[in-house]
Amino acid sequence: MKAIAVHPGKPGSIHLEYVPKPSLDDIPGGRGVLVKVLRVGVDGTDKEINAAEYGAAPPGDDFLIIGHENFGTVEEVGPNVPDTIRPGNYVVASVRRPGSSLYGKIGLQDFTTDDVYYERGINLLHGYLTEYYVEDSDFVFPLPETLREVGVLLEPTTVAEKGINHAYEIQRRLKIWQPRRAAILGSGTIGLLMALAARLRGLELTVLSLPQKPYRNADLVEELGGVYVSSADATLADVSEERGPFDLIMDATGFSPIIWEAAEVLGKNGVLVLSSITGGERKAEINSDRINQKLRARQQGDGRHGECRTRRLSQRRRRLDQGRGALPRLAEEAADDADPGARELRPDDPRPDGRSRRDQGLRRSGAKRDWLDA
Ligand SMILES: [Zn+2]
Repeated sequence: MKAIAVHPGKPGSIHLEYVPKPSLDDIPGGRGVLVKVLRVGVDGTDKEINAAEYGAAPPGDDFLIIGHENFGTVEEVGPNVPDTIRPGNYVVASVRRPGSSLYGKIGLQDFTTDDVYYERGINLLHGYLTEYYVEDSDFVFPLPETLREVGVLLEPTTVAEKGINHAYEIQRRLKIWQPRRAAILGSGTIGLLMALAARLRGLELTVLSLPQKPYRNADLVEELGGVYVSSADATLADVSEERGPFDLIMDATGFSPIIWEAAEVLGKNGVLVLSSITGGERKAEINSDRINQKLRARQQGDGRHGECRTRRLSQRRRRLDQGRGALPRLAEEAADDADPGARELRPDDPRPDGRSRRDQGLRRSGAKRDWLDA
């Protein structure tokens, strides 16, 4: 059967590859699902893989079949596949597979701390831009008939949904967080899906993006009941003045300097969600004093934070009483608290060159789509 593949490491190597049709036996335990591919979304991630910025072939192959945003129909299932997945069903398969980290073991491989990722169509596993694929039923999700036309958007939708879900999850600690205004930066596929997610949460919606009207995606934002502003006509600060302050700002521009502008205008107790993947070397001058002062002033003004600090201090005092012998260690710990740089490096810490150790995996998370637009 035909497949679209690249030779990882060789820029511009995209080509047609002939590969054997997969079979149910490729999956152990009778859990195989054979799927005929109907649609595959191609995005910035695929473009970057073809540019040899990242991506790796499965062991034993010198090519990688690309494509991670998929939609297909089930042809055949193994004996141990749940009856929610049957021939004829529409399905979408997920992208990342569990590695060795604890997160993968509990189905949260999107939070993996592993350095090596297994992602179909991206790293070490073949993708879906081919005629058929076979997959373990654990990673295959049935879709109702009604989603036939939009099912291929499921994977990018998870990027938008994850961002917004986690914003709410983080703010649950505030007990009464009631966001009202959302700003979405960028209006590519991810930006639009974020706009949709924000509207579904009942938020006032503003989308700031580069293109000027007339622009189809601006019309779509307005159809959702939002306001579209071109960054050629107004800065984020202007927009915030008019439509803010924003309780939720989600970035999907692929233009990293904007996140510092966003940090400057974020409303009180607001959340800034970063989902752009920026593999480049762009540098930005930031108003660090102003950003720090603003965030810091907010913390100081927050009684809860003060209370929390008091609690921590009294805990420390109690521990001090309990273990006078451990005094030098406690002093060390206090110093660590004051200066986060003093503690030992953890796997998630930025590397000395300033790039996050997770960069690689994040870049593969499929959030890259709309840099084409930006
Ligand atoms: Zn994608």
